[in-house]
Amino acid sequence: MLPLTKIDAATWPDSALQHLQAIQAEIDACADFDLRAKKADSKWNSKTRSQAGEQAFAKVREQLKQESVGAGLCCYCEQNEATDIEHVLPKSLFPGQAFAAHNYLLACKTCNTGHKLDKMAVFVPSGSAVSQSLGRQEEPASQDMAFIHPRKENPLALMLLDWKTGLFAAHPKTAPAGSREKQKVLNTIEILGLNTRDALVNCRQNAVKDYQRLLREYVNIKQATNHKELDEASGGHPEIDPSVPLATEQQRLLSCIRAQIARQPHPAVWVEIWRSPATPKKMREWMGDAQELSPLPGLSITFK
Ligand SMILES: [Zn+2]
Repeated sequence: MLPLTKIDAATWPDSALQHLQAIQAEIDACADFDLRAKKADSKWNSKTRSQAGEQAFAKVREQLKQESVGAGLCCYCEQNEATDIEHVLPKSLFPGQAFAAHNYLLACKTCNTGHKLDKMAVFVPSGSAVSQSLGRQEEPASQDMAFIHPRKENPLALMLLDWKTGLFAAHPKTAPAGSREKQKVLNTIEILGLNTRDALVNCRQNAVKDYQRLLREYVNIKQATNHKELDEASGGHPEIDPSVPLATEQQRLLSCIRAQIARQPHPAVWVEIWRSPATPKKMREWMGDAQELSPLPGLSITFK
């Protein structure tokens, strides 16, 4: 699970934001929670029935796509294509956030409709370290979220990924035992099924090998001293043109590898390889020769 940038009014189209705000105001004007929840549901189901709604949500979707992680990946699982507009805080429980842009992200269908659904947890009482799972269509007893909101905090600041087992865990420094942060991490892992979806866990483990291979190729290409070595470093693909200067060919191949890294699923694995003390010595040496590939510090602890 990766962080997303905060919604920036300067980059979001005014017309789309105004459209969302107008609908939200109608929901907020309803007298009680039940009416607000019903209104949010009906407004959501009919959001693209008018031409104005269709145009606004085409812009919303486009904007969210640009903000999604990697090559259009779901920020929750980091594996599948991000296709669905997902409410971080479910609209059935938080109708006041149903048309709030900062509550949206693009998630994959599996995460959205197979795991997260309307699930959420809050701290009760607010400010405590005791979290409570929310029941369906019940007004939450608190607005103090016990779930990592990827637009408000960096999941990788609170979580660690053990790239050998492929499992996420609470960061011992930023989310120690008994803390609110640890409870947030545990709820997030459980609600999204981050550690119980076998295919996901296996793919994280396999991602290590892919990143390792790309890193090794990158360093070998960088260190090649002639066209023959360059050809060997790239495994004969893409083909090397001996008539083109070595440095030019090198730059072409290095940018190919950088593009491949940017397209890989499970970018959190890449972050962990760079920041984990358990990364093997050989890989550390390669990393030392390819410092420019480091995703840190942007994705390590501090929120971008
Ligand atoms: Zn997903």
